[in-house]
Amino acid sequence: AGYFAVGWAVAHAAAVYDFFRIHGLFPYQPFGEWSIPFSLFFTLLFLSIALIRQNAADHLMAETDPLTQLANRRKLDESLHQEWDRCQRLQSPLAVIMADVDHFKQYNDAFGHRAGDHCLRRIAEILSRHTRRTGDLAARYGGEEFTLLLPHLDAGNAFSLAESIRHAVGKLFEGGTTRHPAHAITISLGVASDIPADGKTPEDLLLRADRAMYEAKRAGRNQTVISKTAAV
Ligand code: GH3
Ligand code: MG
Ligand code: MG
Repeated sequence: AGYFAVGWAVAHAAAVYDFFRIHGLFPYQPFGEWSIPFSLFFTLLFLSIALIRQNAADHLMAETDPLTQLANRRKLDESLHQEWDRCQRLQSPLAVIMADVDHFKQYNDAFGHRAGDHCLRRIAEILSRHTRRTGDLAARYGGEEFTLLLPHLDAGNAFSLAESIRHAVGKLFEGGTTRHPAHAITISLGVASDIPADGKTPEDLLLRADRAMYEAKRAGRNQTVISKTAAV
């Protein structure tokens, strides 16, 4: 909006100046007639900057989850294919972690939807802190499910990262606060890692992480399971 306003202000100022100049209300200036072309240049420059910035903001919004500010599903799908291709070229593993909040329906029922939303944002902060390398991505897969994309990480290292996340989440509401009474929040995670190759698909990798996550649920929740068919 700032660039947009400056752009138009320059155009208007030049028009007013030119009006006075043409009617002889300003003393003669040697470069007076240049005011319009000059202002046109700056007006277009500022309006273009405004447009580019607005476009960038729209683009970011289209791939960001509004509640958690993590990447949304659309961005995840895009990055998954990008990183898959990159890792295939480099013959490097790509790891996926799926995480789902345990008994979150009960948490919502007990403390309300607003507390639930707050909880999801706090978990998202932890996920962001654990995905700082280039190519890493933390996304909200939907509801209370999250997906991490971790290029160049084998299953063992992805497991360590998942466990570190699980411990951090477990400590979130330790002791409780006035707004959020003590209530252990835990997550279950599934890990899968593979070196991309022809004949394999990134969707399979995601599916394997998802299945491992459900195994963690079945095994009693609050734990990480590595996909058994992991090739790495
Ligand atoms: P499980 O341990 O098996 O995952 O149990 P669960 O209760 O977490 O799983 P279930 O799929 O039955 O319920 C998911 C709950 O997540 C239901 C819904 O109220 C809650 N949820 C999903 N999205 C949001 C959200 O954006 N905000 C809040 N506050 N709650 C959400
Ligand atoms: Mg759940
Ligand atoms: Mg779920």
